[in-house]
Amino acid sequence: MQASEEPSPAAPRRKRLALHWQILLGLVLGGSAGVAANLLAARPVQPPGVVDSLDVDGNHVHDRLDWWASNVADPIGRVFLRLIFMVVIPLVFSALALGAAGIGDMRRLGGLGLKTLGFTVLLSTVAVLLGLLLVNWIGPGRRLAPEQQDALRAQYSRAGDAAIANAKQAKPLKEVLLDIIPENPLQEMVGSMDASSKGNGMLAVMFFAMSLGIAINFVPDACQALVACLEGINAVCMVIIGFAMRLAPVGVGCLVFAVTARLGLAVLTPLLGFIGTILLGFLIHMLVVYSLVIWWFGRMSPWEFFGDISDAMLTAFGTSSSNATLPTALRVAQEDLGLPREVSNFVLTIGATGNQNGTALFHGVVVLFLAQVFHVELGLGQQVAVVLMSILAGVGTAGVPGGSLPMIVVVMQSVGVPGEGIALILGVDRILDMCRTLLNVTGDLVIATCVARSEQRKMPLDSALEISGGGEC
Ligand code: ASP
Repeated sequence: MQASEEPSPAAPRRKRLALHWQILLGLVLGGSAGVAANLLAARPVQPPGVVDSLDVDGNHVHDRLDWWASNVADPIGRVFLRLIFMVVIPLVFSALALGAAGIGDMRRLGGLGLKTLGFTVLLSTVAVLLGLLLVNWIGPGRRLAPEQQDALRAQYSRAGDAAIANAKQAKPLKEVLLDIIPENPLQEMVGSMDASSKGNGMLAVMFFAMSLGIAINFVPDACQALVACLEGINAVCMVIIGFAMRLAPVGVGCLVFAVTARLGLAVLTPLLGFIGTILLGFLIHMLVVYSLVIWWFGRMSPWEFFGDISDAMLTAFGTSSSNATLPTALRVAQEDLGLPREVSNFVLTIGATGNQNGTALFHGVVVLFLAQVFHVELGLGQQVAVVLMSILAGVGTAGVPGGSLPMIVVVMQSVGVPGEGIALILGVDRILDMCRTLLNVTGDLVIATCVARSEQRKMPLDSALEISGGGEC
């Protein structure tokens, strides 16, 4: 987004820095200030989410840095996040209903759904297989010394207990699938942004929105006012997002500062092999898999694609939330990639919850890493089970910070890896969450581009251009 100021007759025209550069600046400044402050304070490492400064022995360590991280940086960052979360439900609801209503032709809608599903399964499968290949090859869990494991376990055991308690409330698969059809859509909307809802709330909201959109096609004359109302909701949500995004550089910087100031770099040292394996997997998936798919199916140069979506990538990295990034992704898809509105609405809103390649890769690596640490031998059959469950868990993960943690424990326990092991990686989860969300959101935009291209190829040029330009219902 290239925002420029009005030129005044006296002053020479001054261009404001593009939003993605501002966000990048915020990230770099926040991150380096946090690391520097942590080094200066040389304080004990704390589990993420512990805001009242309990150290590992249970003593209160109210030092100044903690105060600044918890009472200044974190709240400022959360103002930005909350402004965006505030409009996610109305935005997802209106975008998906309008998407389904705008597509009109049921066969086309079914085709879009199948293509989205096909790409999601393909990319998630490649992501998990890549993760498993790397973790088997590098073997980071075999390299962790027993005393390092004990220290990590002692540090994060309390936070690990919370993740396990959440996972224990997880419903059986049958219930998860049934709950996609909401009995009470309003109730689902209320709980859908909660990580412990395991994403079902959001899937149920999407199901309701799509049903509404499909139904509109059968009685279009009776629904003109309803469609206008949905258009209005969608438009005002985008305006509010526009205001919130002006805070993005500061908000993102503060969020990163709060994480790095509390954790510092010391927390990374014992887990370098694990982090390296994950980051290598993310890098290969981003640069090789996405680039090939966007070039082959999206008919676009990967270089140009990544440049166009940089706003969305940086927002994903800063917020650790696919849901919070959805409005930016929608804008980028329509304004920068020039994708038809109803196709991007449809694919991106579904993708924000349903397509999480980074999360799927992360699941695979974590489960095998912890199996290595606990000397649990996973045969081929169990590794295949990990692949399938990681793909499903990726679909069911809420697009919020830390949304995948309850799901990971479910996958671990299903193949006999102790759930308590999650405590070992909690210290670095937030940093990896930023990276996997970046991959998740990029994957959504890759799929939206590929699906849009294939739709345009099917249509005569005139109608393709008409759709690109508006897509009004
Ligand atoms: N934070 C991720 C997202 O929003 C979900 C996760 O992997 O925890 O996409």
